[in-house]
Amino acid sequence: MASDWGYESHNGPDTWPSKYPQAGGQNQSPVDIVTSSIQPRSYDTPLTWKYGPGICKTIVNTGCGWRVDVQGNDSELSGGPLSESYELVQFHSHWGNENTCGSEHTVDGKAYAGELHFVHWNRDKFPSCSEAVPSPSGLTVIAVFLEEGENNPEIDKLCETLSKIPSKDDRTDLPEDLDPVAMYPADHSFWTYSGSLTTPPCYESVTWIVFKNPITVSHEQLDCFRRMKKPCTEEDSFILKNYRPPQSLNDREIFECAA
Ligand SMILES: [Zn+2]
Repeated sequence: MASDWGYESHNGPDTWPSKYPQAGGQNQSPVDIVTSSIQPRSYDTPLTWKYGPGICKTIVNTGCGWRVDVQGNDSELSGGPLSESYELVQFHSHWGNENTCGSEHTVDGKAYAGELHFVHWNRDKFPSCSEAVPSPSGLTVIAVFLEEGENNPEIDKLCETLSKIPSKDDRTDLPEDLDPVAMYPADHSFWTYSGSLTTPPCYESVTWIVFKNPITVSHEQLDCFRRMKKPCTEEDSFILKNYRPPQSLNDREIFECAA
């Protein structure tokens, strides 16, 4: 069944606000990060994370890309701009058809080849992830830019599974040792601001943490994402664009925190 939103001209980001009013709000994501207008900020406690072993359970074909579903009770993200403790629930990627597009956030107008999103929900404030998703301070998403370069071994573990999930809603198990931290850059400096989900319903419930430094993935790994098929019968119908363009920053500020 076709979804009522996507990234084509008939159902793409420009059409989302008519069906999902929040998508037309004043605090939407992604945004362009203009580095000359960033405020430096330090925090009483550093941003920290811990992810227990074996928490990445399955990978699913969403029709717009892949998503790893996490059993996150043995995970924790806290400190930095966060006043509560968050739990990892899923992560996924955005990409484009070539290396000059694909990320959702841009830096001084420059896009990266892709962007990973690690979605965490506020378990101190909400009894469940579904209650956190639409609520203020409900979610924190860590964003990691992808740049073409050396191979990332952790991404290989994902790529090896993609041939097993050719169709929308297909799902397969992941290796026990898949580690989210192995997909974070070595330098943990980040930008942070208040924004939204970048896919409908685009709830304005997200504290964004965007790592300043990209990780590298190989050309083959990016191609592996780009060979995923769309949910339709046309041949050669690959997922080559699943990113929302930058939205207006409006009255918001972006802060920078050095590692
Ligand atoms: Zn995303």
